[in-house]
Amino acid sequence: MSHIAPIDPPARLLMGPGPISAYPSVLRAMSSPLVGQYDPFMTAAMSETQDLYRRVWSTRNEQTFLVDGTSRAGIEAAITSLVRPGERVLVPVFGRFGHLLAEIAERAMAEVHRIEVEWGQVVPASKIEEAIVRVKPTLLALVQGDTSTTMNQPLDDIGEICRRHGVLFYSDATASLGGNAFEADAWGLDAATAGLQKCLGGPSGSSPITLSERATEVIRSRGRVEAGIREAGDTSAADFVRSNYFDLGMIMDYWGPRRLNHHTEATSMLYAARECASVLLTEGREKVIARHATAGAAMLAGVRGLGLTVFGDVAHKMNNVVAVEIPDGVAGDPARQAMLDDFGIEIGTSFGPLHGRVWRIGTMGYNARRDAVLTTLAALEQVLRRFGASVPTGGGVDAAIDTFREAAA
Ligand SMILES: *Cc1c(COP(=O)(O)O)cnc(C)c1O
Repeated sequence: MSHIAPIDPPARLLMGPGPISAYPSVLRAMSSPLVGQYDPFMTAAMSETQDLYRRVWSTRNEQTFLVDGTSRAGIEAAITSLVRPGERVLVPVFGRFGHLLAEIAERAMAEVHRIEVEWGQVVPASKIEEAIVRVKPTLLALVQGDTSTTMNQPLDDIGEICRRHGVLFYSDATASLGGNAFEADAWGLDAATAGLQKCLGGPSGSSPITLSERATEVIRSRGRVEAGIREAGDTSAADFVRSNYFDLGMIMDYWGPRRLNHHTEATSMLYAARECASVLLTEGREKVIARHATAGAAMLAGVRGLGLTVFGDVAHKMNNVVAVEIPDGVAGDPARQAMLDDFGIEIGTSFGPLHGRVWRIGTMGYNARRDAVLTTLAALEQVLRRFGASVPTGGGVDAAIDTFREAAA
């Protein structure tokens, strides 16, 4: 038998649009011993995690829990459980993830209506309301932060519009939660989902979700009809949720006081999700958002200090990621590779219309940190110069240091 070495990943500073380097305490939490599914320790940890995430989401929603799987598990659970085949879903698209929500809604056999704005912009509330009046959807599915364009869609006016027109309001806050304001109750969200691998500072594989009473009732009434359908033996009816794994009615019963068996909870991911929330709430939600704002502002000032042009409407940029145009004459992918090979720093490429045009640089979670920002800018300066760009010496690091100083003053 040959010896198989233990896994030994290289040291990396993950400064892309996600995943990011996890908080060390999250990795430690994940190596904690496993306990059984119905061990009182486990059920208590599940309830505690629900409480912590109520605070992360800023909600009193009873139905706040984790969907096991990456962020799109949460998205898929929310959409397939809230929308019946044939119902209308409105998806404002301002980047790649809007298209993902639309695709998932189509797979749920909804009638999907997209409204699009140019990449680099957000969608005006008036345009969303106009489309709601025209389409009369059951559900509005709206991304908050779209990492493909770095835009942070304002949500604070949207809940009220949805309520006025009797529309359920769902948001994918995967990229933004923890690093930008999010107020589930104050903004009138009916459903919101996230992941750990962006501002929450964990690995991907767990999707926090919160559901309003209205959303809960939609799911419950569907479950009651479904029970009747099963008895009648006709599973072709529209009320039948097409997925077992993503049936939120069943997942709510599993997390609820009855703890009805569904899947085997992903114990190590529960520990990770709990620790992500604990880090956020111990430091303070507002303070963590401010730390992301400062690190993001420093990175923005830094890339501008290197003479780079920033993509998109900067007034609506998420705190935690910036898109920079690759300078003329610089080979984008080889330069990014040099960042990784020579400095161990990962920055992001781009998709769709931005591919080959911009890099995306993130400052999230554990890496929303002064030394991570300065190290990245110093490395970027050297790589840009080696790839033929003329860059001001120290222009990036100096501008970023100034931003950190101003923020501390
Ligand atoms: C990063 C991101 C995701 C990621 O989904 P995964 O299933 O975890 O890969 C989803 N939505 C948005 C808006 C994101 O930025």
